[in-house]
Order: sequence, then structure tokens, then C-alpha cells
Amino acid sequence: MNKQDDHRRGSGLVRPGRVKEVTSLTNPIVKDLRSLAIKKFRDQQGVFLAEGLKLVIDALDLGWTIKTLVYSKAGKGNSLVEPVAVRTIAKGGDVLEVSEKVIAAITRRDNPQMVVGVFEQKVQSLPAIKPQANEVYVALDRVRDPGNLGTIIRTADAAGAKGVILIGDTTDPFSLETIRATMGSVFAMPIIRATEAEFLSWRKGFSGLVVGTHLKGAVDYRTIPYANRPVVLLMGNEQQGLPDQLASSCDQLARIPQEGRADSLNLAIATGVMLFEIRRDALKLAPDV
Ligand code: SAM
Repeated sequence: MNKQDDHRRGSGLVRPGRVKEVTSLTNPIVKDLRSLAIKKFRDQQGVFLAEGLKLVIDALDLGWTIKTLVYSKAGKGNSLVEPVAVRTIAKGGDVLEVSEKVIAAITRRDNPQMVVGVFEQKVQSLPAIKPQANEVYVALDRVRDPGNLGTIIRTADAAGAKGVILIGDTTDPFSLETIRATMGSVFAMPIIRATEAEFLSWRKGFSGLVVGTHLKGAVDYRTIPYANRPVVLLMGNEQQGLPDQLASSCDQLARIPQEGRADSLNLAIATGVMLFEIRRDALKLAPDV
């Protein structure tokens, strides 16, 4: 960014973005975008990639800041891509028209989507979270698998939860795999990060219900009264489950009864079962139109 750009941004004026055509994999802008497959570079730049026109439109509609819109030449003249390019430029983002080979390299896919957006990361901190009655937050202890995390963000969105709290060292919510698995819900679901110590200290000031899920839980998850109070649903790590300190901070330890040979449910499935039980009374089918 040059000094004039700095000045214009500082004065609140948004510099209109630029449009460029790039076909070479060795172009420095393309190298920069390819580096976003690696967490270190995503974090350095504070951005992430989201694939697909629908996701990009949803993100813009929800007020997310777009840095760059990338679309393959095949999309040129597409009546849906052009307005998105115009919105990107108006917001000061850049627009790159690239070959399919370039977009495949950026997203590391053989059959890439025609459109990719580079968005600013957004993460909240725990002290800002003040759950109200009938609101549910999902807290995940050291979740490891990007597919699980993305699926949980999507499920939390569908169940009407208010946010997903990531405790400790977790898989990156902004990796390509996680974002793909959220199917766009990452733009609707606040992500909150905390260390285990920060969560335990916040939990002391939280007067709602903290329900942990545990394979040694003594309470059937269907017998807990969840209604009329804020609820935090605490889920354990895929391999180790909830550590003792987190488990003992819970008001209740719930278990989903099982049959068969499986020791436990997959983390994302268990989270879905719990969330839809907690939200049982709140969720209604929309009347037929
Ligand atoms: N080996 C781990 C253990 O001993 O806890 C298994 C963890 S399980 C794959 C991951 C998480 O899913 C658990 O920590 C718990 O939060 C949840 N979970 C899985 N099956 C469950 C069940 N039947 N009841 C309650 N929670 C369950």
C-alpha cells in the first residue's frame, strides 16, 4: 500500500480496489494466495480463503471484509460474478481474473470452484460473551479434526446456537478444510477463542448451565432441563475426551446412551445430538407456504 492509500484509508475513504488479469503460477500475487493454504501465512496476513460464489455473496451480505475476489476466466461475463466484482472493488478489495490452472493451484483442487474470496479473519474473545436465557454456545476442548470442526460450526448454525468457543490448541477454524465443511456457516457463527485457564475463569462468572459430555457421565442427556437459561455445551477432544479440570467445572455431565460395539460417537455427531436436544423446544418447522 502506498502513502496515498494509507492516507485515504486513515481518513475513512475507501480506496476503490483494482482489477488484474493473472495467468502465470509464478506471479507474486498468485504465490501469495497459494501460501494461504498454510496456517502461518493465513495468520500473518489475518485472512482466509472461501470457495464458491454463494459463499462469497453470503459473506458480503453478512458484512465480512473481502480483500481479494479471484475468479476464473470461465466466469467472465457471468451475470452473478460481475455484481460481486463490483461490490468487491467498491469495498476496496482487489479483483483477479485468473486461469483455471491458477485457481486450482490456489485452492489445491483438481476441479476448483469458479470463484474464491479472500476474507479478513474474525475471532472474538471470551469476556465479550454474555449468554442470555435460551441461548446456547458450544465449547470445544482441543478439537483436532478440521472436518469435525467445520461440521460442528455448520450444525451449531442450523440449531440456532450463538457461537462456538474453541478451548486450547485446536485445529484452525480458517483452514480450507474447515471452511469447506462449514458450507458457509462460518460467516454466520461467531468463533471465540480461549485458553483452558481463560475458559475456567470465565465460567466462574457464568450463572447459566454448563453441560459437559462425558462417556462416564451419569446423567442421560434427555433428562436435563435446558430451557429458560443460557447453556454452554462442553465437548471433549476426539482422542482424550474432557480433561478432569474441565469436566469438574461442569454443572452436569451428560451421556448419550449407546448400543452396539462402538465405544463412543464421533465428536460432531455427539455435538449434533446434544444441540438438537437442548434446542428441542425452540426449533419449529416453518409453516408451509
Ligand atoms: N476416547 C474418548 C473418551 O474416552 O472420552 C472418546 C472421545 S469421543 C470420540 C469425543 C467426544 O464426543 C467426547 O469427549 C464427548 O464430548 C462426545 N461423545 C461421544 N460419544 C458420547 C456419548 N455417548 N455421550 C456423551 N458424549 C459423547
